[in-house]
This record gives sequence, C-alpha cells and structure tokens, in this order.
Amino acid sequence: MLAKPIIQELQNTVGKDRCLTAPEDLMVYSHDTYSGKKPDVVVLPATAEEVSKILKLANRERIPVTPRGSATGLTGMCVPEHGGIVMAMSKMNKILEVNPEDRLAVVEPGVLTNDLQVAVEAAGVFYPPDPASQTICQIGGNVATNAGGPRCVKYGVTRDYLLGLEAVLPSGEVIKTGGRPIKNVTGYDVTRLLCGSEGTLAVITKIIVKLIAKPEARRTLLVAFRSIEDASTTVSRIMAAGIVPRALELMDQHYIRLCENMYHLGLATEAVGMLIIEVDGFAETVDRQAKIAKEFCEAQGAFDIKLAQTEEESERLWIARKMGSVALFRLSKTMLSEDATVPISKIPVMVAKIKEIEKKYKMTIFLLAHAGDGNMHPLLCYDPANKEEAEKVENITREIFEASIALGGTLTGEHGIGLAKKPFMHLEISPGELELWKNIKKSFDPNSIMNPGKFV
Ligand SMILES: Cc1cc2nc3c(=O)[nH]c(=O)nc-3n(C[C@H](O)[C@H](O)[C@H](O)COP(=O)(O)OP(=O)(O)OC[C@H]3O[C@@H](n4cnc5c(N)ncnc54)[C@H](O)[C@@H]3O)c2cc1C
Repeated sequence: MLAKPIIQELQNTVGKDRCLTAPEDLMVYSHDTYSGKKPDVVVLPATAEEVSKILKLANRERIPVTPRGSATGLTGMCVPEHGGIVMAMSKMNKILEVNPEDRLAVVEPGVLTNDLQVAVEAAGVFYPPDPASQTICQIGGNVATNAGGPRCVKYGVTRDYLLGLEAVLPSGEVIKTGGRPIKNVTGYDVTRLLCGSEGTLAVITKIIVKLIAKPEARRTLLVAFRSIEDASTTVSRIMAAGIVPRALELMDQHYIRLCENMYHLGLATEAVGMLIIEVDGFAETVDRQAKIAKEFCEAQGAFDIKLAQTEEESERLWIARKMGSVALFRLSKTMLSEDATVPISKIPVMVAKIKEIEKKYKMTIFLLAHAGDGNMHPLLCYDPANKEEAEKVENITREIFEASIALGGTLTGEHGIGLAKKPFMHLEISPGELELWKNIKKSFDPNSIMNPGKFV
C-alpha cells in the first residue's frame, strides 16, 4: 500500500482518471500471459514530462516502477514482482512521423506494431519485424523485448530497425540516444543496450525506426512431410543453400491436427511435419525463388505442396500458424510457450531432442518454430495447480534449455527472460557477465526501482 500523499502526488501529475487504485483495475494490470502480481497503483502517462515526474517521485520514495505495454509477454516481464507502480504506456500512442524520404518513422511507445506497419506501408515503405502478436502488442514492448517474428529470418529483429530512442532515466532525466541518420557510430550504442532491457533500465518514450523498401511481391508455400526429420532437414538445407526466405516456419503433427480440428482449413493431417515457406522481392524473382524452395522440399520427400497464387490464398495458408495459439489456450488452464534457439545447422538435432523429451515425460509437446533462424517454440498446455503436470513441465523445460545450451544455443530467441527463465540463466550467463550486467543496471538505476525482481 502506498501512502495517501504519494497517490495524491501521482493524481496531481496525471489526473485522477489516469491514476488507478480500484481493486478491479489493479487486477487488470497485474498479469501477462505467464504470471501475475498486483501493483499498488497504475498510472497512464501521456507525455515524457509526466513519465519524468512519476520516476522522480518513485526514485525519491524508492517505489518500484514496472513499465507495461500490452502485456502480451510470455515470461512475466511486465509483472510487478515487488508491487509499486505499474506504468502503462497505452496513452502514448501517436505515430508522429512517417518519412519515406529519410526511410524512418517516429512513434510513441504505445503504438500497436500492426498500426505502425499499416501506416508505413500506406506510404510505400516497410517495417519488417512482425511478432505474431503484432495486432495487439506495442512497439515500445517490442523494443524492450527485442521482439522477433516470422519475417526476421530474412530481415532481422527489432534491434536491427532502431535508429534512436528517447528514454526517461529513473532520476527523471530525459535522454536521447542515436538519432535520424542511418549510419551513426558516435560512442557507446545505448539505443541497442536499452533494446531488450525488459524495462529494467529506463522508460522508453519515443522511438525512431528505420524503414526499408516494400517488397513488390511474395509467394507462400505450405508443404507437408511424412516425418519431422524431413521437414527440419529441409529447413537447414534451404538455409545452407543461401536462399533467404522471408519466413520459414515449422509446425508438428499435434499442432496441425489441433488447428485442422478448430479451423477446418483442409490441412493434410497425415503430415508429421509441415513448413510454411515464404519468399519475397521483385515480381520477376519470386516465382523462381518459390520453384527452388519447392525443389528442395520435393528432394526431401514432401508429399503435399500448396503454392498460393493470390494474396488471399497466402493469408489463408498462414491461418493455422497465426491462429493456433487460440486453440492451444483453450486446451488447459494455461499454455507455456518456450523459445530456446539453436544455430541453424542444429535444427534437426534440436527437433529430435524435443520429440525425445516428449516421449520420456509422456506429455504432449506441440512444436512450432521460426525454424529458419533456429527459434523453437515447444508449447505445453497444462494446469499449474496440478502438481504432477506442473512438475513435468518444469523438468521438460529444464531439459529443453539444457539441450539448447549444449548445442550452442540460447534460452530465449525472442520472448525474453522475465520471471520464467530467471532460474535457468546460470546455464548461459557466466558470473562474470552477470556482474557486468549488474554494474550497468546500477549506473542507470542506482536505487533499483526499475522493474525489480527480474534478471538483474
Ligand atoms: C499469441 C502471441 C504470439 C506472440 N508471438 C511473438 C513473436 O512472434 N515474436 C516475439 O518476439 N514475441 C511474441 N510474443 C510475445 C510478446 O508479444 C512480445 O514479447 C512483445 O514484444 C511484448 O509487447 P507488449 O507491448 O505486450 O509488452 P509487455 O508484455 O507489456 O512488456 C514486455 C516488457 O517490456 C517492458 N516495456 C514495455 N513497454 C516499455 C517502455 N515503453 N519502456 C520500457 N520498457 C517497456 C515491460 O516492462 C516488460 O519488461 C507473442 C505473444 C503472444 C501472446
């Protein structure tokens, strides 16, 4: 509970309607898709100046502050583990500039990713990072988590599209990092340090993103295989051949059948593994790229290949991949989406390992992957209150992480550490590196008010 004068000061800063203390409001702002903890108060600032005033107060009074985007995070990153203030960024939602000439856009953090994409594409340019949650997550959340997505296999992740930021330090000082030039090597790269910092260093209040030319055309293939090995081997063969599809996604049989039952898409349910392969570029080149990809699939024993001829058909081929999580969340009390990521050549080994773990624990692991960049999504549907299930999930998760690290991979390719992966960090991060992280944290946030209880 925060003292009344503190609440009063917050109300004076943002107004009563943007300072929430009712139990039902606190409940709404307590969770992401992984876990929850109630804050003492929720504030919804509308300007960097308001953010600055709130942080000054919090720093003075040593009150924890947890920034919050749309709470689509999958690891408990925006959960206020130590209570205090949740700072929801949804009121800072203006697209301030779309500038095709300079190939950049300037946005506030609360803009939904898809809204930015629609706005820039209307101006003939392209912002590639496309987390599957793009219609509901915020660009500020994407920056704070360094979000990826299907198109990142060709175009790179959020970090690769950042030119500059405005951020407010816990002291209340407003800083500007980077800027508008495409090339900029002046000193330390604080822009990229803040990217992926999961709200532990500062509050991001403005973002300058780089835009690129919009690809003229795309071709989408949905390819069915009789074995998951054939599907995953095709992925590494395509990548090794130097073709760079704009998406290369893997789905296993559990996932295919679940989606077919729910959406009746005409998927080949006898398939044990399925790939979505999408290529893009100039209109003259896409058919040739699609043909080469198709040949790789056939050589690896693909038995059903659907090639979209129109934009509508392309979108239809994506439905299972994009909408499956709705079906998964219906299966049990919760769904855990892991995202261990391995080097490209290790994809077939990692896929086989996940299937082996599934057999060992006799628990269904739905498998999706942004396979082209080695980013696995083993998905577990379970009831956390069921002790036996929860224990299995813990063991499965640990074994998946251990396997990934043993193959030269990482704990998380895009979902972040949050609370979920904190217990496993020692598998990947040495004590020396962690000490360095702690010192970085201290220089931004000496009183440890920013999102405390997380990875530093
Ligand atoms: C169905 C589904 C599909 C998904 N698919 C993908 C995917 O393909 N790729 C992917 O990368 N992720 C994916 N995610 C995870 C999630 O959508 C991303 O991590 C996303 O970037 C989170 O954005 P958000 O606005 O919801 O942030 P939140 O979950 O609210 O917050 C995430 C973190 O960012 C911090 N934060 C938010 N805003 C700010 C700010 N302005 N300043 C400082 N810190 C801030 C928070 O403190 C927290 O630590 C998916 C999630 C779902 C539910």
